[in-house]
Amino acid sequence: MTASGESQPGRGPAVPSASATVAHQPVSGGGARLSAGLLHAWQQRNAEASLPLALRQLETAGNLANVRLAVSGAREGYRGPVFMDSDIYKVLEAIGWELGRSPDEGLASFLAETTLLLEKAQQPDGYLNSYMQVTGRPRYSFLASSHELYCAGHLIQAGIACQRGAGDPALLAVARRFADHLVDHFLDRQEGIDGHPIVESALAELYRETGHEPYLRLAGQFIERRGHGLIGDSGFGSRYLQDHEPVRDTVTEVGHVVRALYLDTGVADVATETGDAALLQSSLTRWADMVAAKTYLTGGNGSRHEGESFGDRFELPPDRAYNETCAAIASFQWAWRLLLATGDAGYADLMERILYNGFASSTATDGTRFFYVNPLQRRADHFEKDDPGRRRKWFNCACCPPNIMRTMASLQHYLATVSAGTLYVQQFTCATLSAPLAGGVLTVEMATDYPWAGSVELRVTSAPPQACGLAVRVPAWSAVPQIRRNEDLVEADPERGYLVVRGQWRPGDVLRFELDTTPRLTYPDRRVEAVRGTAAIERGPLVYCVEQADQPAGTEVADLALVPGELEEVSATLPGVGSTILIRASAVHRPQPQQPGLPYHAAAGTAPASGAQTSGAQASGAQASGAQASGAQTSEAPASGDADGEPVTTTAIPYFQWDNRDGRPMQVWIPVANA
Ligand SMILES: [Zn+2]
Repeated sequence: MTASGESQPGRGPAVPSASATVAHQPVSGGGARLSAGLLHAWQQRNAEASLPLALRQLETAGNLANVRLAVSGAREGYRGPVFMDSDIYKVLEAIGWELGRSPDEGLASFLAETTLLLEKAQQPDGYLNSYMQVTGRPRYSFLASSHELYCAGHLIQAGIACQRGAGDPALLAVARRFADHLVDHFLDRQEGIDGHPIVESALAELYRETGHEPYLRLAGQFIERRGHGLIGDSGFGSRYLQDHEPVRDTVTEVGHVVRALYLDTGVADVATETGDAALLQSSLTRWADMVAAKTYLTGGNGSRHEGESFGDRFELPPDRAYNETCAAIASFQWAWRLLLATGDAGYADLMERILYNGFASSTATDGTRFFYVNPLQRRADHFEKDDPGRRRKWFNCACCPPNIMRTMASLQHYLATVSAGTLYVQQFTCATLSAPLAGGVLTVEMATDYPWAGSVELRVTSAPPQACGLAVRVPAWSAVPQIRRNEDLVEADPERGYLVVRGQWRPGDVLRFELDTTPRLTYPDRRVEAVRGTAAIERGPLVYCVEQADQPAGTEVADLALVPGELEEVSATLPGVGSTILIRASAVHRPQPQQPGLPYHAAAGTAPASGAQTSGAQASGAQASGAQASGAQTSEAPASGDADGEPVTTTAIPYFQWDNRDGRPMQVWIPVANA
């Protein structure tokens, strides 16, 4: 059921109701399907490798055992963090989307069995939480950290996925009973708020699915209650919980990143459903600030390990980047909602950056190991406590792997939107896109080797009787392409980051265009002190890194300095990595001086404007040691240091493919040598 009361199976994770104040709607009713290419391969890998692993881990880690304890009425034996139920729900959500994509008996029976188990564990008034039920702690007695509503939110999202994807309403019925209990307990009452948002967007989506308005009102109240000190202290302070000031007044993202971005995802949902322009504007303001000053090149967020949190503006150290995978997913979800709200391509641009970099890096090529933390540099002999920082099969706090799985299983829903009689292609991959438009249905088959190649073909396979539009996003990194309709160049209107071609379409019509994926160097804003004097290599939507495994013998990543010049593409298939396009670049290699004393120098090598001279060894050594030592520089463009050193050709690999070999050092930002 939708807010307008009509069931629409095949819909995706976030679909505004017909009355919502949005510029775009997703293509609905199963109107997008991946058919080949990188995203499709990821989705297949998710189904064949990642989800089977998750089903095993939910047993071995104790998640399902906890629910069985709750069913039996046991009062001891609970294992793991308080939010273990949420891992089950995220896996069930992934299964819901996956079953909508492709039937699978094993997944279907797991869904049926687990739903039955949850039905049994659910208490008569709808409450369901294995941690609270088994430990016997009073409900809602420590909302700052109990994650009760967080788990409820994931249950609701899983129920919706199983309804929309698998066409199975059983889990949604469990979720609704819990949601109805939440309405009874929290709506119009000051009964607190969960320390970890997500129930806000889940309730808004449940309103969209059911048309039951109290869900939306409760979502709105949870948002408005923040910022008044109602949550209490979880030990990390009020900013960690986004409880330091009212949401409407907040202009910059602070605190725990996943909390902040799930909250804003809910803000966008509630604002668009209620038509609250001021609330939406607050979200847009925070997004713009986050992108301008708190976002890594990979699209990741969170520069502080302490509290898994945002740092200050421009505090973006590459080696200490936290960039939790769940944060990338939350940012992706938030940007999708702002894209729908505004129709501005910039939101889809960030989604693309996240998708191919900060999100994609989370998963090993084989789909069975995952990053929780996604740094932009790993040094030799790295450890974080006793962890060398490589991908792992699972985690004690296992929020990220099942979050990856539900996102992978639903990727097709983020490919395209519709607005004012136009189909907007937001992401480029091999897919079928279909939307009711202009008194009929416009269906296009998209063919491309994206992100490896920039050429894209859109072939119309069914067309409505009346004229309509077909629009393509022009990524900010590309020049505006020429578009050909069949063989003829067409005039396409530039509009908010899109090229729009309008007209009467016929089956067999083809639109062709080519985005410019020429490799390029990208320089940081000078206020990002941690990477001053460096550059990164990008190609199309892909951020690159230099990984030790690809460097010439005797060349250390940490001793490289880039010499700006030609960047050469090389197609390759690498063991452990698979197909890729590497980029070769000129560099100098300067082993750092092995001498006692502080790693700082008195004069040149860090301040070319001073005119001071020093030995080449000292100068380039300081430069190659990283930009951290280059605080005296004043330009964000190629910096000090020198080209003195052994000329070498360095090889860069897409960032998302790193750490699939021997786990040696990696850097995205590379010091620039003076040519
Ligand atoms: Zn996580």
